[in-house]
Amino acid sequence: MRVRPCSAGSKSPKDRSGRFQYLRRALVRHARFEAVRIYGSARVSAYLLFLPMEEHDLKFTFAAAALGFLAISPAFSQSVPDPHAVTAFTSVNVVPMDRERVLRNQTVIVKDGKIAAVGSSLPIPAGARVIDGRGTEWLSPGLADMHTHSDTRNDMKVYLANGVTTILNMGDASYGFMDHVLPDVNAGKSPGPYAYASLRVDGSPEYGAFVVKTPDEARAAMRMAKTNGYSFIKVYNNLSPECFQAFIDEGRALHMHVIGHGVTRVGLKKQLAAGQVMVAHSEEYFYTVFNPPGYEGNAAPDKKLIPAAIAFTRRDGAYVTADLNTYATIARQWGKPEVLRQFLNMPEVKYLDPDDRLGWRHEGYIKKTGSLDGRVAFLKVLIKDMSDAGIPLILGTDAPPIPGLVPGFSLHSDMELLQSTGMTRYQILAAATRTAGRFIVHNVEGVQPFGTVAPGMRADLVLSTKNPLDDLTTLRKPLGVMVGGAWYTQSDLQALLDSVAKEYDAASQHT
Ligand SMILES: [Zn+2]
Repeated sequence: MRVRPCSAGSKSPKDRSGRFQYLRRALVRHARFEAVRIYGSARVSAYLLFLPMEEHDLKFTFAAAALGFLAISPAFSQSVPDPHAVTAFTSVNVVPMDRERVLRNQTVIVKDGKIAAVGSSLPIPAGARVIDGRGTEWLSPGLADMHTHSDTRNDMKVYLANGVTTILNMGDASYGFMDHVLPDVNAGKSPGPYAYASLRVDGSPEYGAFVVKTPDEARAAMRMAKTNGYSFIKVYNNLSPECFQAFIDEGRALHMHVIGHGVTRVGLKKQLAAGQVMVAHSEEYFYTVFNPPGYEGNAAPDKKLIPAAIAFTRRDGAYVTADLNTYATIARQWGKPEVLRQFLNMPEVKYLDPDDRLGWRHEGYIKKTGSLDGRVAFLKVLIKDMSDAGIPLILGTDAPPIPGLVPGFSLHSDMELLQSTGMTRYQILAAATRTAGRFIVHNVEGVQPFGTVAPGMRADLVLSTKNPLDDLTTLRKPLGVMVGGAWYTQSDLQALLDSVAKEYDAASQHT
């Protein structure tokens, strides 16, 4: 049985009926929430939010969207801190993440969205905003979730409140996200992490990806992806070998890289040798490496197969997404409806889009039989062995379509669960910060470096009460988050979360 986390979204009601239907629904959803923003709690809100989708025509959608756009610009321009302000963090303990060390009682100067200097007795620039760490607070790099399916402004706020300053959308991004949300967060006009996106391509419509049938189409799709602001092509299970190769070849010409799943008819070993730069899930190795293509069981593979897989991954320099918590969360709910109920009652679900809550209820893992526990145990060994072998690991969650995985919150769960593999907290935090920065800088043109606390780096920072190398959970409750020089205090972050919960609450009151 293939357990492809990324395919989860395609079974949810929001895209079950096809890509165009999904895009239209996303637009309607966005328009409705924007309309609620204008009309507040008036009766019209309930009408707009709960009118059955099927009764909508496009005329209504665009009328509502137009109203929404009228409301967006002033609202967002008021709520975003100035990224160009000069900031001095004083008396902070720094976890730079360039190597395993801490620097006590430092001053960190931020100018023009970048870290300008780190030192023990630096002069404070005139007019600088001073954030005093009083010798007890800790400053570490912002976190990166390199596998999400989030594409709303609200999800961006929830990520930021969790100290996540970089995300990589791995498929299902709406045009609204690509055209407006992504450029806005990257320009500091709207609260959220820096966002990168991949266009998901497949050889059949089975999983709801963009379908590509011929090498000509592959080359054209890649050029269109580039035009439309995508940074990567994400290959999926059913792509043909010819199309896979066309993406690799065209990618060399366009400086755009291929990342993603194991392609059944190619296999990860050949994909990485051809030039695919990243594996989107650690469990991808089950499907085209450890088990023959088409294997339908859920038995854990033989651990003796691990060294050969590590050898080819290391030889080709590929990055691997250590998404242990994603697979473990699927395993927990496998055949267990009561676990799904627990997930829906988690406190952070108030920050989950109602559309995703519905998606969780429709997801089919709770109807499965058997157990994935053996495979979870296997993945722990695989990830630890990869870490020991020096394979560059990044973190990803597959939030929000998979039940149990709320944007931002689930990245902390992944970091915490990875400790059970035997990886050190330093190795885990490096995967969530420095290695993600290296991956983006090496593979996307024109990107400001980020991922460590050092001069020249993008000023993406988390201020915490404890040293995260002693206790990773301290990052769940940041004292403040800086993204590209824009500083959000703890109360700013709480206000972002509250605004998201309030908007969703207004929607559910009327059910
Ligand atoms: Zn995914």
